[in-house]
Amino acid sequence: MAREFKQVGVVGLCTMGAGIVEVLARSGLSVVAVDKDAAALARGRGHIEGSTARAVERGKLTADEHEALLARISFGTDLSELAEVDLVVEAVPEQLELKRAIFTALDGICKPDTILASNTSSLSITEIAVSTGRPGKVVGMHFFNPAPVMKLVEVIRTVVTEQDVVDDVEAFAQQQLGKTDVTVGDRAGFIANALLFGYLNHAVSLYESRYASREDIDAAMKLGCGLPMGPLALCDLIGLDTAYEILDTMYKQGRDRLHAPCPIFKQMMTAGLLGRKSGQGFYTYDEPGSPNVVADAESVAAGR
Ligand code: NAD
Repeated sequence: MAREFKQVGVVGLCTMGAGIVEVLARSGLSVVAVDKDAAALARGRGHIEGSTARAVERGKLTADEHEALLARISFGTDLSELAEVDLVVEAVPEQLELKRAIFTALDGICKPDTILASNTSSLSITEIAVSTGRPGKVVGMHFFNPAPVMKLVEVIRTVVTEQDVVDDVEAFAQQQLGKTDVTVGDRAGFIANALLFGYLNHAVSLYESRYASREDIDAAMKLGCGLPMGPLALCDLIGLDTAYEILDTMYKQGRDRLHAPCPIFKQMMTAGLLGRKSGQGFYTYDEPGSPNVVADAESVAAGR
């Protein structure tokens, strides 16, 4: 790794960003964590503190390591806090214009050699890169959910990404973060989501048409196909708003009807049912952000 990454910034601290901050701080880096306002920052800080406290309970971290890890993270609500970082990982909602505005701002704030990475699942890294004056130093760095657990990072290079930037980000993911990286060109969905999201959308359409219950769809894929979780539970983990945006981007780029988002995604989003993060999605959870499913009208009706 030719560049040395000492301080890394993360923008957006919810489902993905909070986990990415944890990964970076656990690897010994100092992290500047930014969200849009005090309420979002408090929620993000809560995610990070809760997740690392659970790591202590499980014996994965000592109390001293936990304290040192939290001391390596500073929090702020202004992008100007990122002036001195060597790398930024952006994890704001999957909306192109929002990401482009953030990259334009970061380009004016960060040092000229700072690498700007997006955790986007499906948006064009090229379109994000050209909103800056340093498109050669913009890459995709796509972590998976939950970031502290999942081993993979997809590194996305565009036709203008400088080769040494790709090499350094690959080395950083492997050597510093202990992840396995795969490098891919700039096409919606990259590798994993290009293969995953048609399946998730199909599972949602089976549920939407009442072909089978949510529990039976999930049980079939877990117990019949050996997957760690069923597709509807996975949509709740991803967030229905994020899943919708990913499908919509893939559909607009590829026009494959497998990716045309099932109408129920938008209906549930409009009703505020975003999955685990809001406390209700296909399943109901004991509180927002919790993984614990509780009984609801649908499970009672199904006699579960
Ligand atoms: P999210 O909606 O859960 O969180 C987004 C965060 O960004 C929130 O904390 C929000 O307050 C913050 N934010 C919004 N506007 C901001 C601004 N102007 N400045 C700073 N912060 C701002 O989104 P998410 O699911 O964590 O997704 C983030 C990115 O990661 C998306 O590009 C998504 O496609 C990608 N991703 C998501 C998953 C997943 O499973 N959810 C997995 C891999 C990648």
